[in-house]
Amino acid sequence: MPELPEVETVKNELLPYVVGRKITDVVLLWAGMVKEPSPEEFRKRLIGQKITGITRRGKYMPFSLSGGDTMIVHLKMTGSLLVQKDSAELPPYARAVFHLDEGTVIVFRDLRKFGVLRLVKDRDTVIGKLGPEPFDEGFTPKVLGEILTKRKAPLKALLTEQTLIAGIGSMYADEALFAIGAHPMRPGNSLSLKEINKLHREIRRILSEAIENKGASVDTYYRPDGSRGTAHYQFKVAHRFKEKCYVCGTPIDRIKVRQRGSYFCPHCQPAPKQ
Ligand SMILES: [Zn+2]
Repeated sequence: MPELPEVETVKNELLPYVVGRKITDVVLLWAGMVKEPSPEEFRKRLIGQKITGITRRGKYMPFSLSGGDTMIVHLKMTGSLLVQKDSAELPPYARAVFHLDEGTVIVFRDLRKFGVLRLVKDRDTVIGKLGPEPFDEGFTPKVLGEILTKRKAPLKALLTEQTLIAGIGSMYADEALFAIGAHPMRPGNSLSLKEINKLHREIRRILSEAIENKGASVDTYYRPDGSRGTAHYQFKVAHRFKEKCYVCGTPIDRIKVRQRGSYFCPHCQPAPKQ
């Protein structure tokens, strides 16, 4: 699923097409993706509003609108936002089409239909409970340490819990844990101060490199122009099941941690003692 670097890329690359543009029509091909308000009201309230900006918070994209509303997009598992010159030909799995006043259209394409659209007056009702952003000044090694060392849950579960830290998903949590040699099942409170400092540094390094590489196209992630990101070519463990570890040659293993597929090197990331 798109994680922080993928959502950041989509936001950055959409901005030039949408800022200052007025929404002239909204076609919902799968109305079920609108979680609030009703699909009819969603359309009615959006049409005529100007998009004044897009930001990113965790994996959410809030679109600021001239009428004071915020449209909040979540791509979930398989969503993409694609820019097209017109709507003459829509891609497969197009679920919503936003028409802009210059003729450009933004297509929400979503194979699995988990993507979500919301139109709200107060964005905090949706994104207010998220944890700190990894690139925020306030997200210091000390803050990361407080988040992790107070808890016994597996590191993989803690790093991907959006109310603790926003934006890190399964792929980048796996990469960060490999970078510090920590097994995904290790409890949060088992990390040393040295490991926490390193983890903090590695989270930022891995995420910023992935943003530079425009996200990871391991399955259905596309950039707004339809092209793919290349961040997955940097992956050391994520989505490399049975391939050799670049460091030690051991085949990469995969386990489930709280329902999430988790990739790791059994040699470089030794299992915690029971
Ligand atoms: Zn290894």
